[in-house]
Amino acid sequence: MATLFVSDLHLDPARPDITRLFGAFLDGEARGADALYILGDLFEAWVGDDDPSETGAFVAERLAALAASGVPVHFMHGNRDFLLGAAYAQRAGMLLLDDPTVIDLHGRRALLMHGDTLCTDDIAYQQFRAQTRDPAWQAQFLAQPLAARLAFARQARAASQARQGELRDAGTMETITDVAPEAVAAAFRGHGVDLLIHGHTHRPAVHGLDVEGRACSRVVLGDWYEQGSVLRVDADGMRLDSLQA
Ligand code: MN
Repeated sequence: MATLFVSDLHLDPARPDITRLFGAFLDGEARGADALYILGDLFEAWVGDDDPSETGAFVAERLAALAASGVPVHFMHGNRDFLLGAAYAQRAGMLLLDDPTVIDLHGRRALLMHGDTLCTDDIAYQQFRAQTRDPAWQAQFLAQPLAARLAFARQARAASQARQGELRDAGTMETITDVAPEAVAAAFRGHGVDLLIHGHTHRPAVHGLDVEGRACSRVVLGDWYEQGSVLRVDADGMRLDSLQA
């Protein structure tokens, strides 16, 4: 049996085919898995567990069915759905994971992260992250009416798109929005692991690298914009594949 990893689905009512693909994955392949790990950005946006979106309701139902079938489902927050709370997690049968977390993966210690904390060259983003992960900021945000929170999310998305346009124009998009090598090395060193699995950058790959003489692997999960992306790990090894919509 395999342990499955996904991230960056960015599920959104605007892309119902991808939500259906994920539903089929949960009802199909995932039913036979050892466990499913969702490493952040399951949703394109999340402004509170009281959001009545049909996408959220559908996904909670399919995830809860998978968990009820006996497959543990783990969820780590991403930078889009960091406000996903205990109420929704419970409804979906998901166990919340801290970022970072080290797990035992078929006898190998593996470090799991969403990946945004590795993008340390993006100073503006790291400032936004520090602000919005502050419990006081979150409590104040969640106390606002749903309409105001949805408006904030639309604004934040527009600002993020404008910023990406600026970075592209300046020619710094590729480097600033990718992981910083020194942050990656520090993560391997700090946790004493030789395997790191993360998403966020939407640059699916298996990278081999040397950290202080140790051979390490960094697996980057892909996004689910036009297809799915899944990492399967079992006792024999790992495979990063795409799923066709
Ligand atoms: Mn992300």
